[in-house]
This record gives sequence, C-alpha cells and structure tokens, in this order.
Amino acid sequence: MRGLVLAGGLLIAACAPSVAKGPTVAPPTPAPPPLELTCAGAFAQGGVVVCRTSPGATVFVDGQERGAADASGWVVAGFDRDAPASASLTVRTATETRSLDVAVAARAYAVQSIAGLPQQTVTPTDPAVQARIAREAAMKEEARKSRAASSDFLDAFLWPVQGIMSGAWGNQRILNGEPRAPHYGIDIAAAEGTPVRAPADGVVAMANPDMHFEGGLVMLDHGQGLITYYLHMSRLDVAQGARVVQGQQIGLVGKKGRATGPHLCWRMRWRDRNLDPSLAVQALATARASFAAGAPLDPGAAPPNFTPWTPAP
Ligand SMILES: [Zn+2]
Repeated sequence: MRGLVLAGGLLIAACAPSVAKGPTVAPPTPAPPPLELTCAGAFAQGGVVVCRTSPGATVFVDGQERGAADASGWVVAGFDRDAPASASLTVRTATETRSLDVAVAARAYAVQSIAGLPQQTVTPTDPAVQARIAREAAMKEEARKSRAASSDFLDAFLWPVQGIMSGAWGNQRILNGEPRAPHYGIDIAAAEGTPVRAPADGVVAMANPDMHFEGGLVMLDHGQGLITYYLHMSRLDVAQGARVVQGQQIGLVGKKGRATGPHLCWRMRWRDRNLDPSLAVQALATARASFAAGAPLDPGAAPPNFTPWTPAP
C-alpha cells in the first residue's frame, strides 16, 4: 500500500515540470487511514465488550469520558443491568473522532426470594454493626478506584470455580421478606474449601478475610476499570497489591458474611457499571478469538438466561 502511494507521488512529481512553469506542485500527501474502531463481545445488558482503536485514543462511552486505549489500542467497556437499548462508543485522537452506535439487548430478570438470612445482615440495627458497614463501604469504594496499568481484560476469562449456579445475575431480590437491590453477582454453589481461581490475570485491589456482608472478599483489577469480586470465601490466599495469573488459587469457597450456605458470589464491574461475569466468560473469549482471526463480530449475540434459584424451604 505504502509502495503504491509512493510510486504515484513520484510519477506526479516527475511530470510536473513539463506541464507548466508555475510554482512546483507538491505531490499529494496520502490520506491517513480512517481512525479504527471495531468492537466484539456481549452487546447486552450486563455485557462486556473489547474494542480496538488507535493507541492512546481518548474513549467516551455514552458521552462520558472513560479513559484511554492502551498502547496497542485496546479498550474495554460494559453495559449496566438496566442499560437502554442503544449505546454509543466514541474514540478521539488529536485529529480525528470516530463513533459507533450499538444495540444493547434487553434481558429479563427474575424475582428471587431468600429467607433465613441472619437479620443483622439484612437490616442491621446495632450501631457497632452500622459503623462497621460504613467503614467497609469506604474500603470497597477505595478499592473500586484501582486502575492497574494493564490490559488483563484481554485474557479469555475462565470460571473461578466449578459448581451449580444457585443464584442468577440481576435478579430482583427479596431478603427475609424485604425488597432489596438487585443481585449483582452470580452464585456458584460448591463445597466449602473448594479452591477459587483467578479467571484472568490481574492485580489484587482488595483482600479482606472478614467483611460483614461479603465474608472473605477479594477484588481483582484487570485494567481500565474492569474489576471482579469474589465473596464469602473462608480463606484468602492472596494479599492486596499482589499480581495474580490466570488459574492461580486466590482462596477457598466458604459461607462467611450474608450467605445461607457455601458458595462463591462472583461479581464484575466496569467503572460504575455492574456487569454479568457469566457473559464475560463467553464474550471475552469470543472477542479475543474474533480479533485474532481479524474479523470482529457484529453486535447482537443474545445473552444466556439462567434458571432462577428457588431456595430450599
Ligand atoms: Zn451472590
């Protein structure tokens, strides 16, 4: 491509003197290729997508500035549980802007009723417990701001534990009879002590063995604001600030915190948006494969819906 452009330019330059005696006409500068923006992944509520653009391009999602592409041009973004039917992705360099409007598939969420939780984990009244909750909320808020200078989101994510899906993502929850916030995790029931493994490389943004709601909690930062959470663990095997690799054991399945039995509650956030990790397992592997094959997927893959969990009476 470059060779052809050069040949054309030389040809024009060689011809110019015989055409006219006026000022020398400069050979035309070849137009730069248009700013690239291609995306692949789960274009659905709770879904995550990977895009490729110019290295360092500024990223805007739904009109809001959301950091910059990495040194190879990779970007990760996600759509919230109740995201509207379309989203806009925009990238900008010093000279160019490129936008994509994408459809975001809507999902249906079930209502999930859970009874028998310790009341102090549902409506805490003890001032000491309330103070502890506030303290821990501030710690989580701080950990959420973690921004590892990495692009570990490019790993094809694996399941952190094998088990039975006991609580779907996004369910509207009723805890001990009271309507509460949606469930932003997927619950995977497994025997106490089952190893929990990092689904992708990352940096430990938080590791606390004893949180009021979460029990043993680990948060992993996979870059550009993509952070995963592992709740209720009985033991943690990593410390804050450590770098973990895909498949590394980070702790053991437990039932600490607000839990009725041993399970891993797996959560994912992209900046201030809650994502469905089960979509990420599918979407990040698919995105990686499609970019490797040089053919990013078109938006629109339908997300799976899991059977809602009915707890035993
Ligand atoms: Zn959960």
